[in-house]
This record gives sequence, structure tokens and C-alpha cells, in this order.
Amino acid sequence: MTAEVQAQPAHTVITLDIGGTKIASGLAMQHADGTWTITRQSSVPTPALEGGPATLAALVAEAGARYAEARADGAQVVGVGVSAAGVIDTSRGVVTSATDTLPGWAGTDIRGALQDALGVPAYILNDVQAHALGEVTLGAGAPFSCALMVAVGTGIGGAVVMNHRVLPGPRGLAGNFGHMHHELANGFMCSCGRTGHLEAVASGYGIAALYGVRAGGVRVPGAAEVAQLAAMGNAVARTTLADAGAALGEILGGLTNAFDPEAVLVSGSVAKAGPVWWDGVRSGFARELMDPARETPLLTAALGDDAPLLGAAVGLSSYLNERN
Ligand SMILES: [Zn+2]
Repeated sequence: MTAEVQAQPAHTVITLDIGGTKIASGLAMQHADGTWTITRQSSVPTPALEGGPATLAALVAEAGARYAEARADGAQVVGVGVSAAGVIDTSRGVVTSATDTLPGWAGTDIRGALQDALGVPAYILNDVQAHALGEVTLGAGAPFSCALMVAVGTGIGGAVVMNHRVLPGPRGLAGNFGHMHHELANGFMCSCGRTGHLEAVASGYGIAALYGVRAGGVRVPGAAEVAQLAAMGNAVARTTLADAGAALGEILGGLTNAFDPEAVLVSGSVAKAGPVWWDGVRSGFARELMDPARETPLLTAALGDDAPLLGAAVGLSSYLNERN
């Protein structure tokens, strides 16, 4: 083990994944065959309610702990990769905006704090972007050089990976596939404050809202409950899932025509909504694809909880390679 570490010191990086409830971390090492392993994995609660500075301090403390463990293992740490909740300005490593799950997180200089504390380069990606980079590089059907990923959970996020790099956009917004217009969403309120966006009918809360209107004002918590009703034969729930899936599939088909990816990956809790939803997604996707793109595979994400940690490590590694 020691000999292997000494042979590849340049590939040991600290990787962190910070969300509203926990901070996961580990030491990531790339092997000669391109695969990665993560050791020294750890998870602590995010002190989200104590505010941005306390959350940043907890993140830096976890990075410091992994740094000490790496040194104890005889490894040389060459950098820190972070998957962070919120909209991230990756060029500066600063949180541009964040939701209420992390109060006071907006404006946080993650990169500056980590570089000051550890003296090594840090690279920060938004959590969906890190997840996508992990999946596209190491997950379902990987490796792809160009792929799109959509995460359909409570909301809808996404990321564009082109030539093995996440396209962040100058404002960190690239990949917000949920905030595109779809006619099914006309009159439905989106989390961004606008109406008519895909997320308003095709995310977890959107599917619940669409079902609620169609079922005459019934309230359900989310897509999982609509999927349960569909599985029991509820016709309104079935058409709601099929239509929401088709709307998502049509948007993904249009994006495939626009970006020409090798694959489109689907992750998130709504991806477990069952065959009625998936049939809708596939049919909507197929309807929109231009002829040269019609073989583009639509895949489910495969890496699970480690995807953001791996993606943050891959992102840092690419960043370091480009600097050298
Ligand atoms: Zn929106």
C-alpha cells in the first residue's frame, strides 16, 4: 500500500460533498487504469441552522481531518475537490446563491477558505454538476466525453458535460433543465417564481401539483404518492405520471438535438416512479430526437451516493491537469 501511494502521490485528493443535512468526505485516489477509489470516508451533520460561517468552518474542519489522515497514510495531498449545494461560481469557488436549506450560505468563499487552511488548490462544483461528472466519467455506461444528466427529485436540476468537463456557465446556471418552458406547465407555478416551466409539473412537487389539479383539488405530498396511486390502478395518477414523464422526455430530446451528447443520464428519486413514468419519458424523448440522434441512449444513473464525491475528485483532477 505504501509503495503504491509513493508511486502515485499526484493522484491523492481530498473530496467533500456538502448538502443541507450532511458533509460527506474522503480521500480519493486515481489508479493507473483510470478508476478511482475513495478511502477514509466520513460523514458529519451540516450545522446549517447556525449559518454560513459555521457551515464553512465545519467543511474546513472535515477537510483538515482528511488531510491529517492522508499525511498519516504517507500520501501527498495535491488538492481539494468540493461538491456543494447552491449555485456556484466555479471560476472563483464562491457560492452565488443558495436555498433556505442553507441559510447564510450565499456569498461563502469556499475555495479561499480551503486554500488558506490547507495550502493546496481547491476546485468547487455545484452538487448536481459534480454528480454528473462522476456518473459520466465512472458511472452508467461510462466513460463518455459528452453527456447530459438530469436529476429529477423535489426539483429538477441537471448538468452538461462536454469533452470530460462540466459546463458551469459564467453564472453557474448551466444545466437548469427544469426551468425551460413546456406547454403542460402553463399556469403552474415554478420554484423560480415563474409559470410554465417543466419543473412545475415534472418534478416531485410538480407531479403532485399536476395530479392535485386533475383529481379535483386533492393534495398529495409528492411523486412517490402519485406513483403508489398509479400502481393501485388509479387512472388519473397513471396519466399524470405518463404526461409528466413525456414532458421531461420531450425536453431531454430537444436538448439532445441542441447539444449532441453521447448519452443522457437520469437520476433522482422520481426516476424510481415506475414503468408508467419511464414509458412516458422514453416516448417523449424518441418523438423529439432528430434522425442522427435517434440512437442516443437514455440511461439511469448507477453510482449512488458516492457520485458527487467521485465527481468532485474528477473535477479537481482535470482542473489541476489544465493548470500544469
Ligand atoms: Zn422555473
